[in-house]
Amino acid sequence: MTPLKALGGTSDILPEEALRWQKLETTARRVLNLYGYREIRTPLIEEAAVFTSSLGEAAEIVTKQMYLFQDRGGRQVVLRPEGTASVVRAFIEHGMDKTGGLTRFYYLGPMFRAERPQAGRKRQFHQLGVEVFGSSSPYQDVEVIALLMQLLENFGIEKNVMLMLNNLGCPDDRPTIQKELRASFLPHVPDLCQDCKQRLEVNPLRILDCKNPKCRSIAQEKITMKAWERWLCKSCNEHFGKVITALKKINIEPNLSPDLVRGLDYYTRTAFEVIYPGLGAQNAIGGGGRYDNLVELLGGAATPAIGFALGLERVLMAQEADGLTANDKMVSPLVFVATVSSAQIPNGLELVEALRAQGIAASANLEDRPLKRQLEQAAKANSSGTVLILGEDEVKQNVVMVKNLATGQQTKEPLGTIVEKLKGEILRPSASG
Ligand code: AMP
Repeated sequence: MTPLKALGGTSDILPEEALRWQKLETTARRVLNLYGYREIRTPLIEEAAVFTSSLGEAAEIVTKQMYLFQDRGGRQVVLRPEGTASVVRAFIEHGMDKTGGLTRFYYLGPMFRAERPQAGRKRQFHQLGVEVFGSSSPYQDVEVIALLMQLLENFGIEKNVMLMLNNLGCPDDRPTIQKELRASFLPHVPDLCQDCKQRLEVNPLRILDCKNPKCRSIAQEKITMKAWERWLCKSCNEHFGKVITALKKINIEPNLSPDLVRGLDYYTRTAFEVIYPGLGAQNAIGGGGRYDNLVELLGGAATPAIGFALGLERVLMAQEADGLTANDKMVSPLVFVATVSSAQIPNGLELVEALRAQGIAASANLEDRPLKRQLEQAAKANSSGTVLILGEDEVKQNVVMVKNLATGQQTKEPLGTIVEKLKGEILRPSASG
């Protein structure tokens, strides 16, 4: 049989690397707690409608990237491509749209998109996202962006990131936006890519997402902040003005980006993205925005909301680019329980379990093999550790031989008190995990 491999665009996170993930997650949870966010965990599979009714039929995620399949019951199900729609579905399903007030959630987990894999673009990747329900205040937008920047600062990558910002207006503005965009692109139809020619008919806003260099350069030339200002209503322009002023007040300098539209239809008003230019083609670390109509669109009570999602693989890549590779080491067992012959293995097991029960990281020999080999293995794993040796005599006398691997010193200790002794005097397992 040819060796089996992980599917393209998915990867194994091996233990050394998993330490970096754990550190990232611990840091994130600490910061999110400071801002009053609580974790929500939604299923990885959802009914297709959760995404098809919310993301927009012309969105690339829906047209090209969803892992959509029929399950054994004939239902159309999707491996979640993003977090917001699921969280909104849960928010409504559990009646939270009826209780009013402010609800702050965060989530952390894998997302699935059938994209062409490349550096920084995977088919299974991980996002950390937040969603706030119940506030339409521009200052809520500012607080959410501040949280995003605070997370990046705590990850150590704030120096080289840029915050991009745009105002996408409200549903009342959408017909004007689409009409004006159509008018702006119409003279350039021959230069647009095949997809964009269609987008011009179906949803011209999506032309601004196109990666084709020609389409991009037309968009960048034609679409300006001034144009958005003209297309949007007074209240959306005022909202945006307050967001910018308050961001500056807390020393966050946004880069206004008229071509930022965030790929999905549900965004309204404030939309933002954080990019790390050093990462090459896939340089977006995260992004988000307001989605004031999504809860209602999915059948809930009208509830304004805003959120963002950070791509964790890209955060790790940015850390590497900034020279912040973690030098954490795995916690190796501090104590090794060796046995002279296999007859003592059950006693060794009893001892190692007692050590672990007291919080001491430990492992034991479970194989029928010479003591010498066991000692070599223990020294390799942790040359500054301790080996507890049990032989026939020790078991009979209720004692244990304690060998300090660093000094080579050996002493006999009573078996009944050795765990307490190690716990109190010699060893404490590292808490850093
Ligand atoms: P999006 O909502 O599509 O902008 O995704 C938010 C963030 O998730 C992006 O800024 C990326 O950091 C990350 N992301 C999105 N798609 C992928 C992917 N295919 N592979 C790795 N990271 C991704």
